[in-house]
Amino acid sequence: MRLVTFQAGDGRPRPGVLTDDGIVDLAPEFASVLEVVVGGQEALERARQVVSRRRPAHDLASVRLMAPIPQPRRCLFAVGWNYLAHFEESRSQGKAQELPEHPTFFTKPTTVVTGPYDDIPVDEELSQQWDYEGELAVVIGPGGRSIPPERAMEHVFGYMLGNDVSTRDLQRRHGGQWLKGKAMDGSCPLGPWLVTADEVPDPHDLWLRCWVNGELRQEASTRQMVFRVPRIIAELSWGMTLLPGDIVLTGTPEGVGYARTPPAFLRPGDEVVVRIEGIGELRNRVVAASLARYQPCRTEGSP
Ligand code: MG
Repeated sequence: MRLVTFQAGDGRPRPGVLTDDGIVDLAPEFASVLEVVVGGQEALERARQVVSRRRPAHDLASVRLMAPIPQPRRCLFAVGWNYLAHFEESRSQGKAQELPEHPTFFTKPTTVVTGPYDDIPVDEELSQQWDYEGELAVVIGPGGRSIPPERAMEHVFGYMLGNDVSTRDLQRRHGGQWLKGKAMDGSCPLGPWLVTADEVPDPHDLWLRCWVNGELRQEASTRQMVFRVPRIIAELSWGMTLLPGDIVLTGTPEGVGYARTPPAFLRPGDEVVVRIEGIGELRNRVVAASLARYQPCRTEGSP
């Protein structure tokens, strides 16, 4: 099943299922895609029943797709240097030393999340080094702590795409901790839909590609991951409970902008496309924005 969060006429985010004939609205049975994820197998079965008895109410082309989980309950988790060739290109730039024996983890705040076709706001006063990172994202289903690798796939609800857009100068400026460079508002498109795990028989046999302005920049099989999904889940959950709906970005392959000669960073007007066969495509335009200007929150919890 492909779960979507979409906005139709009234602009309210709604959960739905994308079928070959259009989008079936899951409201009022469900308030959000997250509710389906948290509800587990029983909720998935109820969603399937809704799809079987209700006609699609919307064309994909007539709605705005949001990230499947537009407001995660807590930070996103991410893995750094998870493709050998990306590690090597980072090492050649003096950014990495020894290949780690354990996954490198970092977090991203929820305010990075944006839709699969939304504009990516870029402010060159904040950073001159905006860079793309096409990635496979895992969404956790049943939560758990210290999940053994052999049970890890039972805790995967599904998959989507992510673009872990990073500001390289900020990433390196703050004590070697990556948070700041991975945290700009609206810098992480997710989606376009959340594909349930039963439709992805092997997450380690997918081709991941990323284009900038039509030029192929990244192309790799997820087979090349250094740490595969079970190991990532096992190590991340070691002593730390993973919750239903948690999002884990699994790392980007080689071909990022800063490792090119000369470096090729994102500029306003660029278009970035991330695609994984069998899952979908993110397509985002880069636009100039004033992120460095003081902007108090208008309402609690939203920028
Ligand atoms: Mg990344």
